[in-house]
Amino acid sequence: MYNYKTKLCRSVTHDYVCRWGDNCTFAHSIEECRPLPKWIPSIWNDFPSEREQQLAEVTAELEKAREAAQERDMYIAKLEQKVTAYIKRDQELQHFLQSLHYV
Ligand SMILES: [Zn+2]
Repeated sequence: MYNYKTKLCRSVTHDYVCRWGDNCTFAHSIEECRPLPKWIPSIWNDFPSEREQQLAEVTAELEKAREAAQERDMYIAKLEQKVTAYIKRDQELQHFLQSLHYV
């Protein structure tokens, strides 16, 4: 079946136990959800509908942007730690030099 487990079961979105259990043709989790075969759109122009496809593309783009933002934030945090470490080392060195002068 071309669309086997390509869509979420209503039991998931409506929060009840599916009576078909493991025999259900719909997916019971996002992980279980399979992508539609590539040949589907060319045969059924509206399946998946253009809007569904656009939503999937935009969602994927958003996910990518979030990952990039996360990586950037981690990079900034790393640089901030480095700068803080350098400032601390500089202060310690100054204190040391001062102690040589004044002791
Ligand atoms: Zn089900």
